[in-house]
Amino acid sequence: MILPRFEFLEPATFEEALKIVEKNKGEAVMMAGGTDLLVNLKRKVIKASVVISLEKIDSLKQLNYSESAGLTMGSMVRVSELAETPIIKQKFPLLAIAASKLGSPQIRNRATVGGNVCTARPAGDTIGPLLAYGAEVQLVRGKESRWEPLAKFIVGPGKTTKKEGEILAAIKVKPCAADTGYSYIKYGIRKAMEIAMVSVTTNLTFDGKKCTSAAVVLGAVGPVFMRSGDAEATLCTKEITEALAEQAAEQAGAFCTPITDTRATAEYRCDLVKALTKRGILEAAGKHVKQSSSRKQEQK
Ligand SMILES: Cc1cc2nc3c(=O)[nH]c(=O)nc-3n(C[C@H](O)[C@H](O)[C@H](O)COP(=O)(O)OP(=O)(O)OC[C@H]3O[C@@H](n4cnc5c(N)ncnc54)[C@H](O)[C@@H]3O)c2cc1C
Repeated sequence: MILPRFEFLEPATFEEALKIVEKNKGEAVMMAGGTDLLVNLKRKVIKASVVISLEKIDSLKQLNYSESAGLTMGSMVRVSELAETPIIKQKFPLLAIAASKLGSPQIRNRATVGGNVCTARPAGDTIGPLLAYGAEVQLVRGKESRWEPLAKFIVGPGKTTKKEGEILAAIKVKPCAADTGYSYIKYGIRKAMEIAMVSVTTNLTFDGKKCTSAAVVLGAVGPVFMRSGDAEATLCTKEITEALAEQAAEQAGAFCTPITDTRATAEYRCDLVKALTKRGILEAAGKHVKQSSSRKQEQK
């Protein structure tokens, strides 16, 4: 398979990119890292006579964090940077862990967070953590700019609310509560270079021993990522026990709507959701206990 012919444009600034996109409306497609796009152009799943690369736009590669505003990152931040940046590891560990599990080192060095979000795959590794953290995305076209919750941006497999000519410019995540426990489980047959068969992202916030808020985000078991509201409600305002984790996991398993494909049956995926949700909740609660006791040690 060879790439079809197209014109390749590399604007140096965001403003220039907006103008080029406007000029080539209906003809052009944007390229971030190209790890998804180039495959789809080769397979003719995507057809375009113009490819606009965002590679040279430095403003889209910025990553900023402040205690008051939280994290703002340009759409061209590489997945490898998410996995390795100390502030992400410290403040948004789910994102760093999930990024470190995406593809291979070569793919992570090219792939971007914006590209991962725009592909809107139910198995996209950065999407579960971003949803658990309540991320918002910024879309820009000409002089118009809008922010939208990521949960509303993705509307189906490969489908978003992105309008013709809009560029995903940035992703914003509010600061996280200090007292949390987290877990990201990506289940696949191979240890690397594998799209998740099922993923479970768990983020629990605590007040003392009680869980005060919970995010349980299921990947690859529905047309879009799914937050199991019943499982989350079960965990809230209670101390996490094995029985409670089991109850929430059962609810998550009953809630998901996977399909049967070449990799697994729908039934097997539901069973996986139950097992992995229970494991994720207990792992998250265990991390919280560990962090609390090391904080107490530091205070002594
Ligand atoms: C071998 C291999 C292994 C992989 N493994 C994984 C994996 O384990 N987990 C996983 O989640 N994914 C995986 N992928 C898929 C892919 O690498 C990721 O989805 C990646 O994050 C895509 O990012 P990108 O920057 O390369 O996007 P691109 O390929 O450049 O773009 C993807 C799509 O988003 C659009 N787009 C990108 N950026 C913007 C923007 N700023 N504004 C508007 N539209 C935009 C493009 O037009 C295109 O349609 C794998 C791919 C390969 C080839």
